Amino acid sequence: MLSPVTDPDGAPFWQYAAQGELRVQTCADCAEPRFPPRPCCPHCQSFASEWRPVSGQGRIWSYVVPHPPLLPDYAEQAPYNVIVVELTDAPRIRLVGNLVTGPDAPLGSFAPEQVRIGARVRAVFGDCGLPQWVLERS
Ligand code: ZN
Repeated sequence: MLSPVTDPDGAPFWQYAAQGELRVQTCADCAEPRFPPRPCCPHCQSFASEWRPVSGQGRIWSYVVPHPPLLPDYAEQAPYNVIVVELTDAPRIRLVGNLVTGPDAPLGSFAPEQVRIGARVRAVFGDCGLPQWVLERS
């Protein structure tokens, strides 16, 4: 199984994800969200931060389809997509993940050739607490 490698700055992201919540580190002084997590606000240099919940809605800003050579754990799951999601609530925040057919679906469950830039997506959380993305049905 692929599981996240955490560091002290990013650990809260994974703790909330394990509870099925998508949260983004936000400056407690100027309210600017930032990603990846880090100690200092790049806008006002404050060290005060909090983790604000976001809706989990976004759109596909870009994507790639990785090709061999891949690390063994990934090669088993190819072909699969890797998408960059622009969050609706925080348009300057872009998260990297996979577009899948549902929570806990395998990486390759959504055909890479059907991924479209601009498509609306929302975050889902499987048993392993890893945020993934599904198409938003409107
Ligand atoms: Zn700030």
